[in-house]
Amino acid sequence: MSAIEHPLPFASWESRGFWEGAGRGELVLQRCQTCGLVQHRPRGVCAHCLDGSTLVHFAASGLGKIYSFTVTEQNQAKGFAEACPYVMAYVDLDEGPRMLTVVVDCDPDNVAIGAQVTVDYVSQTRDDAEMFAIPVFRLS
Ligand SMILES: [Zn+2]
Repeated sequence: MSAIEHPLPFASWESRGFWEGAGRGELVLQRCQTCGLVQHRPRGVCAHCLDGSTLVHFAASGLGKIYSFTVTEQNQAKGFAEACPYVMAYVDLDEGPRMLTVVVDCDPDNVAIGAQVTVDYVSQTRDDAEMFAIPVFRLS
């Protein structure tokens, strides 16, 4: 088992704050100052009240609990095949949003629904030398 070679992300105008935060070691979420919703994935408008004028980015705690998970035993896609078995999970972040991610460096038998996890980052360099990092989680 080796680390997943994540496809390099494309930072759109909506997601640039998230990816730049990950590059700094911060899990950046959006908060709507009109209705208070905290959201992930990044969007141009609030997913609840549709106001896009009061969204602010902030660094979240990076803490959460596993909502659900699966152990991937087979994946022939480039970058993933060598990483099997790996754990894909939905993590409920302490700030509210649910995030699809991977739980790394763990025995899959030790992963459980409700387990506490902490964010970490896998640094990646693109061909244009711009640094990105992929948020992943570890059992706390
Ligand atoms: Zn809102």
